[in-house]
Amino acid sequence: MSVFERYINEQDYPDLNSEKAVEHLSGAVRINTTSYMDTSIIDFSQLDLLHQKLREWYPAIMEKGDVQKIGYSILIRIEGSDSSLRPALFMAHQDVVPVVKGTENDWIHGPFSGDVSDGYIWGRGTLDIKNMLIGEMESVEYLLEHGKQFRRTVYLAFGQDEEVQGTGARAIASYLKEQGIELEFLLDEGGSLSSGDVYGTDIGIMNVGIYEKGYADLKITAESYGGHSSNPFSGTSLGHLAKAIAAIVDHPFENVLPECAKETLRTLQPYMTREPLRTWASDISRYENEIIEYYLSRRELNNQIHTTIAPTMITEGSQAGNVMPQKMEAVINFRLSPQDTDASVLEDCRKLAGGLDCEYIVANEASRQSRFDTPGFSALRDVLTHYFKDVAVVPSVNTGATDARSYEGVCDCCMRFGPFMEESEIKITGVHGTNERISIRAYLQGIRVLIRLIEQTC
Ligand SMILES: [Zn+2]
Repeated sequence: MSVFERYINEQDYPDLNSEKAVEHLSGAVRINTTSYMDTSIIDFSQLDLLHQKLREWYPAIMEKGDVQKIGYSILIRIEGSDSSLRPALFMAHQDVVPVVKGTENDWIHGPFSGDVSDGYIWGRGTLDIKNMLIGEMESVEYLLEHGKQFRRTVYLAFGQDEEVQGTGARAIASYLKEQGIELEFLLDEGGSLSSGDVYGTDIGIMNVGIYEKGYADLKITAESYGGHSSNPFSGTSLGHLAKAIAAIVDHPFENVLPECAKETLRTLQPYMTREPLRTWASDISRYENEIIEYYLSRRELNNQIHTTIAPTMITEGSQAGNVMPQKMEAVINFRLSPQDTDASVLEDCRKLAGGLDCEYIVANEASRQSRFDTPGFSALRDVLTHYFKDVAVVPSVNTGATDARSYEGVCDCCMRFGPFMEESEIKITGVHGTNERISIRAYLQGIRVLIRLIEQTC
């Protein structure tokens, strides 16, 4: 089914200047804000150029708002009339990922062309995530142009380096913290629209990310003397390493059904047509074990309930069948659920690794789980169901990392959901890939979502 079959109320805001909105996204794409780990090769003048364009394109925001640069990141504040209301913050990032060397000619329209053709806006950032950055600016500008006076203070926050270090978002968040600001909610990229099939329903599921799993790479090192393979008296490094990996993989971490999964089951229960899940979902605490077993049996669900274990790298063994290897290393990748800490995972692995050396190359725990019993979440759900039919909006775990986690200290309702519903093949191949593009229709509908959300909450 095409995602566009779900679109409704596209006639809202008939005076939205769609040509200008398209032109602005196209213009933003033409500015090459590629970020690299090696900051010495980043062209910061492109970020300056983007800032200059934002000032040109959005006169009402510039007039009513305070624009602050923190490094090359941007924080815009538009004061609301009621200071008893906590502010809302709308996020995106300014940077984009590089175009993979050698694929430049595979693009039908150049990655920084910003071409508008065949109903699409083409180029790097049209899906990730200049669409949201420009869409948020268009929405606020539209409301201000129409004389909207915000009751709630609105922040727009655009980090400079989400794709690499996320320092921009951290700097903005610590600035807000210093100012003693606590947000009512924030909206960032992320989330997804998925099929309800795994839950035995044919409605679509809009998954709003309310937390992110952690990420850790664990290196295991095994050493042995090597030598002639005719006398492997105390085993070989390869054998020890294989045993350790097998022991860790065979030792699954604790399974916990997170609150957002319970809420998903409760929300979807009335639409479920398949037993026994329909019955289980009607009494989650009674059938929790059955539900966990069901999640474990499904590719789409299993990683929501526990820390996953994926051995991903191993060094070569020896060069010959009759020579024993010496030093060998392997890497296991973990995606941590909130019930495990990086220290507890490391401790378990050390116990299981039979004395081999285990250490992290990198380790981050899961982010905090945001609340979803909030006015912000309800408003997002109402607005999404106003613009998309036959969908249920549920809280979920976000699959990727976003800048939003930097704001946990100032916001207990961090929602990750880009409201730009594009066909899934275009999303899968386009985000960080070749021929990234967004249909004008998806782009404009996303802007309507943002206008209505800001209008209703602020
Ligand atoms: Zn992104």
